[in-house]
Amino acid sequence: MQDIKKRFWKQQIRLIIIVLAGAIGSTMLGAWLTSAHLDPAARVQTVFTSALMSAIVASLLLAYTLRQTMRYLRLHLKVRHMANCDDLTGLANRRSFTEQATARLAVAASVKIGLLLVDIDWFKRVNDTFGHEAGDETLVHMANTLVHAAPEGALVARLGGEEFTILCTIENESQLKDIAETVRRAGEAAGFIYRGDPIRVTISLGLSVARPGDTLSTLLNRADRALYDAKNRGRNRFALAA
Ligand code: GH3
Ligand code: MG
Ligand code: MG
Repeated sequence: MQDIKKRFWKQQIRLIIIVLAGAIGSTMLGAWLTSAHLDPAARVQTVFTSALMSAIVASLLLAYTLRQTMRYLRLHLKVRHMANCDDLTGLANRRSFTEQATARLAVAASVKIGLLLVDIDWFKRVNDTFGHEAGDETLVHMANTLVHAAPEGALVARLGGEEFTILCTIENESQLKDIAETVRRAGEAAGFIYRGDPIRVTISLGLSVARPGDTLSTLLNRADRALYDAKNRGRNRFALAA
């Protein structure tokens, strides 16, 4: 987002300089060439007045086009946000995660990549007991918890429903397990009060480590099987894919 804005302003400043210099320069040249019959003082004044007039007109036109372009930029950013972010939690959505994770896996020859698939335990009960809105609040809470518990530089996303994912670079499997335990504990500890009722949930995690030749899909499939395993073994735990 910052990158787009930076690039936008660089382009606009370049455009302003080119248009102003072009308009003022050409008008001055025109005025100079067509005022050869005047005395030097009058000629300078003619050139100066023409330059001033063209600067004013060019500035007004530039201000108008800048306003229009800024409207398009805002619209572009809004559409981009809507396409890439989950509107409930603000996390990257599945589409954006797939795009970014695929890019990270493609350049992962020199680094190890670990994936954590996170699913809230017995989430349906939250909806059934406290209502759908409380369920939504829980999802927002969990999203924030995951963002804070995930390692620096990790890609955190909501894949859908009460399922999240974290993709990060790791040194080895043991570090991935440490991350999973940190995330699990953070999830367990992140209770909150909803309209006077305390809501507390736990999470289960399925972990997988990228191997040579892995695609995002194979990596996710292994993590999914591990998650299934963690659920079957009692929930509120992590399991590492074989
Ligand atoms: P498990 O421990 O096996 O994962 O059990 P669970 O109850 O978490 O899983 P289940 O798949 O049975 O239920 C998931 C529930 O999540 C059902 C669905 O209504 C709810 N859900 C999915 N998306 C949303 C959402 O955006 N908001 C709310 N409030 N609920 C959602
Ligand atoms: Mg669940
Ligand atoms: Mg689920």
